[in-house]
Amino acid sequence: MNSIHTHASQGSEVRLKQSDGSFKTAVAPPVIILGTKKDLLRQKNTAKGVAAVDVNEVAQKRLLEIKEYLAKHATKAVNAHLVGMIAIDNKSRKKDGSIADPAVETLRLKIQELAKEYLFLGAVSAKWILLELSLRKLRKEKISLDEVKDVGKRMKMKEAEVIEALDFYHSVGELLYHKAVPELENTVILDVGWLVSLFKILINQSITYKDELDVPAQLSSQINELHCEGRLHDDLLDYLLKRHGRQEDKAILLKMMELYDIICEMPLKPREKRMYYLPSLMQKDAKGKNSAIFPAGSSVCCQLYFHFIGNFLPEGLFYRLLIRCIRRWTDCKVVLRKHMARLYFPHDDFHLTLCKEDADIQLKILVIPTSDQHPSPPQPKHVSNVRQLIEEDLKVVITNYTPTVMYNASLKCQCPNHKLGELLPLGEDVDDRCVPISEEKMTAICPRSALPLKDSNLNMWYGKGQEVDSDNSEGTRRKDIDGLSELFYKLQEHLTEEDKSHMINLLTTQISKYDAENLRRPYDVFRHLRERGYVSEKDLDLLKKVFSRMHRMPLVDLINGYLQTK
Ligand SMILES: [Zn+2]
Repeated sequence: MNSIHTHASQGSEVRLKQSDGSFKTAVAPPVIILGTKKDLLRQKNTAKGVAAVDVNEVAQKRLLEIKEYLAKHATKAVNAHLVGMIAIDNKSRKKDGSIADPAVETLRLKIQELAKEYLFLGAVSAKWILLELSLRKLRKEKISLDEVKDVGKRMKMKEAEVIEALDFYHSVGELLYHKAVPELENTVILDVGWLVSLFKILINQSITYKDELDVPAQLSSQINELHCEGRLHDDLLDYLLKRHGRQEDKAILLKMMELYDIICEMPLKPREKRMYYLPSLMQKDAKGKNSAIFPAGSSVCCQLYFHFIGNFLPEGLFYRLLIRCIRRWTDCKVVLRKHMARLYFPHDDFHLTLCKEDADIQLKILVIPTSDQHPSPPQPKHVSNVRQLIEEDLKVVITNYTPTVMYNASLKCQCPNHKLGELLPLGEDVDDRCVPISEEKMTAICPRSALPLKDSNLNMWYGKGQEVDSDNSEGTRRKDIDGLSELFYKLQEHLTEEDKSHMINLLTTQISKYDAENLRRPYDVFRHLRERGYVSEKDLDLLKKVFSRMHRMPLVDLINGYLQTK
C-alpha cells in the first residue's frame, strides 16, 4: 500500500458514491483488497473434531483484521486508495459451471463502477483508437516511427496527428515513445513487457549466472564488482544480452536506464573499455565496506540528515539520487557500496559521503589527510553549495518517481528525551532523533525537549560558518537561534530535579497529575507546557509567578531580562 501510494500522482482524486449514499474521495489508483481462498474457511478443526463455520462471518472478521493492520502501518495510503475489501471463493462452481460465490459478481460490479469513474474522459479521436488497434494487430513488441507513420498514412492520418496519438498513448502507459530523446525518438515500444524483460536480463538473472560453470572467470569477477561496488563493465553487459539474443537492444536498454536515472557512464581514460555506475544492483555487504567509504584517518567536518517523513525512504530513490549526483559532479572520484557512496571533490579537497540509514539519508563532509599534507577544513560556502545542489537533485527525483514522498533536512538530537521508534508527540512520525531544521530561522527545535540543538553543523551546511570559525564558544554559536528557546535553555540549566517537582506542584492547572508522572526533568516540564500551547511569550508571566513562589529570583530576572530586549 505504501509503495502504491508513493508512486501515485497528486491531484488524481475521484469522488465515489458509497453504498450508504455518502461520498468518499479516493486517489488514483483505487485499491480493492481481495481475500481469496474463502472456500478454505468452510471448516474449523476444534478439540471436538471438525466444525462448520459461518464462512462469511469469519471472512469479514479476517478482512477487518487486515484493515486494522493496514490502518496502523500505512495510514495515509489506506485513507487515500482503499475503496473496498472483498473475500471471494473463485473455485466453487454451480451446476452450469458458473462461479457460485455471489461475491465474485460484487467484485465485477465494483470494478465496472470504478472503471467508469476513473476512465479518461477527454475527447479521443476515433482515428487514434483505430491506429492503436492497427498497431496491435502487427503483433510486434517494438517498431520504428516510420512504420507507425506508414500505418497512419494508410488511415489517412497526418504525421502530426500520428505523433499526437503516440504522445497520448505514452502518457496513459499503453506504449512507450520518447520523442524528446534523440536516441529513442525513432523507436515505438508497443509492448511494455518487452522492455521489462530487457531490464530483467540485467536485474534478475545475472545473479544466478555467477554460479554457473560456463561463465568465464573474468566475467565472474565483473559480476562480483557489479554486486559489491556498483560498477558495470561493458563486456559483462554484452555477454548477458548475447545469452538472451538481445544484443541489438543494447542501445535502447542503456538509454532507458539513463533516462530513468538508474545508470551513468563512467568517464573514460584513453584506451579504456566502457564502464557504468549502476548502484541499484549492489546486493552484498562487501568486505571492508565501511573503510572504503570512511577511510582510516578521515575526519568528519559536519553531518546532516534528510529524514523521510513517515519513516519511509524507498531504496530506489536513494540510488537515483546518487546517479544524479554522480552525473552532476563529473570530475568527482566515486566509491560505491551497498547503501553508501563517497564522492571526492578534487578542487576543494574534501569528500562527501551519502549513506542510507533506514529512512534517513546521512550526509557527511570528510577530510582525509595524506602523509605529507593535511587538508584545510572546507569552506562553509562550498559545503552549503553542495547541500543545495543535492537537495535540488533530490527534489527532482522525488517529483519524477515518488511524488508523495516528503523529507526534512534534519540534525540528530542527542538529548536524553528521545524514545526511539515511538511516535513523536505532534506528528505521525516515528522518533529517530532527527529534528527538522527551520531554514528560515536557522534553528532546529527538538520536539521532545522543546529546546534548540547546540550544533555547529547547521552553520556549515547553510553557509554561515564564520561564527563557528571565529569563536567556538557556546554563546556565539547560539546567537542566532530562537530567543525564546534560548531563554528556556538558560532556565533549565539552573533547574534541578527538586525544582522540577516544585514547578509541577505550582502548575496544577496546566499540568495534570497523570501527565506529571511522565515528566522526568525540568526539560520535560518546559516541553510539556510548550506542547500544551503554554509558554509562548505572553505566558512568561505565569512562569515568573511560579519562580517567585519558588524564591528563585535569578530565574525571574532572566525572564525580565528577556522581556526587556523585546
Ligand atoms: Zn532531543
